[in-house]
Amino acid sequence: MGIAGRVRAYVGLGANLGDAADTLAAAVHAVGALPGIRLRGVSRLYATTPVGVLDQPDFRNAVVALDVPAGPDPATGATDLLVALKELERAFGRQARQRWGPREVDLDILVFGRNAIATSRPPQGQSSDPAKASLPLVVPHRDARHRLFVLAPLSDLAPRLVPPFWGETVAAAADRQRGIEGVDAVRPIAVWDGEGWLPLS
Ligand code: ADP
Ligand code: MG
Repeated sequence: MGIAGRVRAYVGLGANLGDAADTLAAAVHAVGALPGIRLRGVSRLYATTPVGVLDQPDFRNAVVALDVPAGPDPATGATDLLVALKELERAFGRQARQRWGPREVDLDILVFGRNAIATSRPPQGQSSDPAKASLPLVVPHRDARHRLFVLAPLSDLAPRLVPPFWGETVAAAADRQRGIEGVDAVRPIAVWDGEGWLPLS
């Protein structure tokens, strides 16, 4: 990669097992410590009513802004990031579980610069869940635009960003989705103070 080959990426974090806030704090530090990656911003921490499978604990969600190597091309750069994130998920003890079900930590690439990416992935980049192992990497993340638990924290960091294909800003998408899901679906509960979460009173 060239010295100028850097990209602003946004990664969504979610957890709902054990102490999910502690887990996400550790995950923020772990992502920021990945080789070649710099942590540029951390959203507020949100408590989220589960989507899909309702009979499970509330989620905690956040988004981080990263400065990452662009790689020789966008698909390769994003795949390298995905591989690193999947390794972290495994390191955090994530087990194969039902889709949308409980998990220790989920790390999704929401945005990778201005790039629109749809690619097959090497084995290390695949989900630990066999049912999802053959899914291609798609960026921007295909569900991000319709999930308040992604849009709310992403809007903390990049409200005026217009991701590829969206045709609207992150803030506009968040407002629309808040109207659909309701203001209580995704609730800010803490801010990042550089070390960990500081509860909002
Ligand atoms: P979930 O859909 O709950 O996030 P997983 O984290 O197990 O489930 O991911 C499902 C599959 O989606 C994985 O194989 C992963 O590689 C793939 N995938 C496709 N696009 C992305 C993306 N933008 N970020 C992360 N994973 C992605
Ligand atoms: Mg995921």
